[in-house]
Parts: sequence; structure tokens; C-alpha cells
Amino acid sequence: MKYLELAQTFEKLEKTASYLEKNKIIADLLKKTPPQEIGKVVLLMLGRAWPTYISKETGVAHQQLKKAVAMASGYETTEVDKLMTKIGDLGEVAEQLITKRKQVSLFAKPLTVDEVFNAIKRLPEITGAKSTDRKLELVAGLLTSAQPVEAKFIVRTVLGDLRIGVAEGRLRDAIATAFGVNPEEVEHAYMLASDYSVVAEAVARSGAAGLKRVTVTIGHPVSPMLAQRAESPEEILKRMNGKAAFEIKLDGIRIQAHKNDSDVKLFTRRMEDYTNMFPDLVKPVHDAITTPRAIVDGELVAINPESGRPMPFQEVLKRRRKYGISKAVKEIPVVLYLFDVLLVGDKVLMSKPYTERRKTLEKIVKPNDHVQIVEQRILGSPSEIREFAEYAVKIGHEGLLAKDLKSPYRAGKREFMWLKLKPTLDTVDLVVVGALYGKGKRAGVYGSYILAARDATTNTYKTITKCGTGYSDEDLEQLTQLFKPLQIPKPHPDVEIEIEADAYFKPEVVFEVGFEEIQRSPEEKHTSGMGLRFPRFIRIREDKRPEEATTITEIEQLYREQQQKKGKRV
Ligand code: AMP
Repeated sequence: MKYLELAQTFEKLEKTASYLEKNKIIADLLKKTPPQEIGKVVLLMLGRAWPTYISKETGVAHQQLKKAVAMASGYETTEVDKLMTKIGDLGEVAEQLITKRKQVSLFAKPLTVDEVFNAIKRLPEITGAKSTDRKLELVAGLLTSAQPVEAKFIVRTVLGDLRIGVAEGRLRDAIATAFGVNPEEVEHAYMLASDYSVVAEAVARSGAAGLKRVTVTIGHPVSPMLAQRAESPEEILKRMNGKAAFEIKLDGIRIQAHKNDSDVKLFTRRMEDYTNMFPDLVKPVHDAITTPRAIVDGELVAINPESGRPMPFQEVLKRRRKYGISKAVKEIPVVLYLFDVLLVGDKVLMSKPYTERRKTLEKIVKPNDHVQIVEQRILGSPSEIREFAEYAVKIGHEGLLAKDLKSPYRAGKREFMWLKLKPTLDTVDLVVVGALYGKGKRAGVYGSYILAARDATTNTYKTITKCGTGYSDEDLEQLTQLFKPLQIPKPHPDVEIEIEADAYFKPEVVFEVGFEEIQRSPEEKHTSGMGLRFPRFIRIREDKRPEEATTITEIEQLYREQQQKKGKRV
């Protein structure tokens, strides 16, 4: 196929914003593209010569590209610069200059899609000595043979900015229109292959049957299965027929690990290749998976080396960027917690039920310091689920993920077969009125704070909960420093407190606290007459004065709403 045909299609696509028209333009082109070339056409239409999950760039700087345009058109680079300031798009500059090209090469053959694709694909591979010059030559060579409109799109592709408004979602519909297949099936095939060039070629060669044959390949990320949110254990049991698998929900980053003999790749949820970001995981993953080939799914968590508790992940990524990977590797150990397996050997397991996949996972994985299997329990009673959720939060995790025992692995889908249960449903702002010393590792700092809500009628603060989770070690240290000067020998006159504390404070600091449930007559004796289940420190509300803390009346209102949600009579 001639590249000119593709460039002219790009031109049409650039000129129209209409979805339907764009769909028709792409479908018409795909219909007349020979199947062996359709993959290349699709990738070029997405502005690249490799699938989107491979993060590569051509590595040709703007300045070099200007030189290539000058060489191919016979104009000076100063001329290119002049036009560039006027037009602002090097693609269009190339188009104009090539139109008035000074010397016309007599031997120029029409460019083919193959040639352009292969040249662009080669660009990132050119490295080492004189690579800048060699890249320049390659691009200038293409431009010398190019017609003006071809030059425009070659330049933009090399720059990685095609600007024709074709995203992957549009390809799904255009492929469906071109070959008369169901868009959902096209999308499903894409979820497995993560590459529209593979999907388009399969349909172009064998229609709907070809589409069904598209499957997972080691080394190509699969769209991860996602979870819906559930409000309560009761809801989960109802949706999952009375019994489900509950796994700890870890707060890290989703990682899909592919092992192909000695080769290990780690992909994120957005299907980016993060293998280089976590070089310390490659060997442990390789060793933990005892079969030569497999794809497994999990969550990567960073562990605070001092406390042994998980660390907020954003922090970890930030540190890796700031201090470099080798330092981070030493200071912040990471652990990949696996919870699913998609492929073993040449068998795709995604259509198998959850229980079978979990069994296989346990069979093929030999845990080590950096690779573990997520803790799981099969439960059928709300109280057991709550207890497990409480335990998950206590050891520093987010909550639970419930999984339907019979569910297949539905790539890219957010459905009700996976349900997340985060104990924290709501937050309140409470005044800190006292504290208890920490024990064990937390000795020497306050480990738990006594919190109160404001009674607007008496203008006093009445206790509602003790809160001993949600703090990092750093938080506990800093909070202890913050509260020392506020300490008073006995409860402040504005505070109504009956439980014994190690320290009492002036009611000045406000904490935002998450919780699962408000309770009437809690076990602990609180002067507000209410309590919080699973309270969790979120942050200090520096912007709030104690007079602005949540009031008892507001908490009573929240309680009523909660009971209504549960369908109980108040
Ligand atoms: P969310 O990001 O809140 O929609 O929650 C879903 C995410 O939780 C998944 O994409 C995973 O990254 C993460 N996750 C943590 N633990 C698990 C688990 N045991 N099973 C599945 N996903 C988990």
C-alpha cells in the first residue's frame, strides 16, 4: 500500500471532528488495506510503530528534524525557523517547503506504508556513536521521497504528535464497522491483546472467528480486572450467594508480572512497562514462579523497614524519582502480593473459576521475601467479614476485596464479581481531648488519642471514640511533639470525659477521622452516648477550630442516615 493513501486519509481525519464521519473514513481505509499491512496501518494511525503499552520514543529532537526538513527541501534551516515561528507546526512547515522544493529527485519512488513504518520503528533502535546523524539521515531520506502531505505526517509521527484525533476507542468502532463484527467483541479481544494492530489483523484475515481466536500472549499486558464498591458485608453476601472469598485489599500499585523463561516483565494497571522501575523485583519474581512461563496479577506494596507496615505508595514513587532507583531499592523494600493467575505454560486460565485459579496460584508460587500470596479467607457471615476487615485495617491495609468464587477473570471489566469493601464510609472532624501511651514499638509516644464531638447546647466536648489506627510512625512522633505543650493535669473544664487517660489536653486540635459505623451505646463509656466503629486517623484539620468540629447533633443525623441505608427502623 502506498503511504500517500494513508497520508491523505490522515488529512481527511484531521479536517473533520464528526465522530461518524471519522468512523467512516477509518472503516473505508481498513476495508481496502491488505490484511498483511493492516497492523502497520493501525499503529501508524495511532501515531507510532509499536503498541501503546511499549513506551518508546523515536528520539529525534526538534532541532534535528528541522535539519532533516531543510535537507530534503533544499532550504536553509533559517528558512525553516522563520516559517516555524509563523505556523507553529513543523509538519505543516515541512509540507509547505516540500511543495516548493528546490531540487526534485528524479529517482524518488513513491513511499510505501511498509517503508515508512519500518523506518520509524528503527529510529528508537539507533543508538551509540553518531546515532544523531544516522537518525537524521534516515528521516531526511524519507522526506526526500515524500510528497508534501506525506512529509507533514512523517514529521508529526517522528515528533510523536500526529494530531488526527484517533484514539484507541475510535479504532474499536471503526474495526467493527469495517468488518461487520460486534464492537464489544472487538473490545474484548483488545482487552486480551492490548494491541489494536493484532485485533485488526485477526478480523481482517478471518472475520468474527479470527476475533474469537485473539488471546493472551506472554509479554503483552492484559487489561486488569477491576472491582466495584460494596457498602456492607451483607450486600456482598447477597450478591455472591451467601459465600465469597475475601482477600486483604492492599494499597499499592497493580502489577501484572509476565515470566517467560529468564525474561520477567512488570506491567502497571495502565499497561506501562515498569520493569526498570523495580529492578529489585525481577529475580524474586522469576524465582517465586516455579513454572517457566506464567502471567500473574498482584499489588505491589512498599514496606516501611522500621515498622514493617505498608507505606503510602505515592511517597515511594516520588522517592524513586527524586533519589534514583538504586537508593530507593536499598531503603524501601517492596513486596508483590499476588492474587490471581491468568496463564500458565500455554494454558490461558482466565475462563476458569476463581477458586481454581487461586489453587493454581498457590501451586505455582513459592513465596519469598519479595513475593507473597495475598491472605484470603472464604467467609459467609457478616461478623466474620467485619472481623477480617478490622484485622486488615489494623495491620495497615485498606480493607477487603470480595471475590465471587465462580467468577472468571474478566479482563478490563469493572463488575460485581469483585467487590471492594473499605470499612471507612464517612469522616467526621473531632477534637482531641486526651491520649494513651503506646505499647511495644510505640512506647514513648502517644499511641491512641481520645476524641470528642462538640455539644452545641452546652458548649462542651463529649468523648465519642479512642483512635489508635491510621497513623504512620512519623505521624505518631510529630503528634506527640505537638500535644506535649497542650497537656494539662486533669480534664479541661469544657471536656466531659469518663474514661481514664494517660494525658489530658486543652481542646484545641481537630482530627479528621474515618469510620465504618456509628454506634449507639458502645462498649466503652463515652459521654456523648455514641461511639465509632473502626475509627481511623486521616489528618489534622489545621484549618478548623474546635468550635467548628462536628457536633453531636450532626453525628446523630449521620447515625439516622446510616440506619436508613441499612433498612432498619430507627
Ligand atoms: P480501586 O483502585 O479502589 O478501584 O480498587 C481496586 C484496586 O485494588 C485493584 O486495581 C488493585 O490495584 C487493588 N487491590 C489491592 N488488593 C487487591 C486484591 N486482593 N485483589 C484485587 N485487587 C486488589
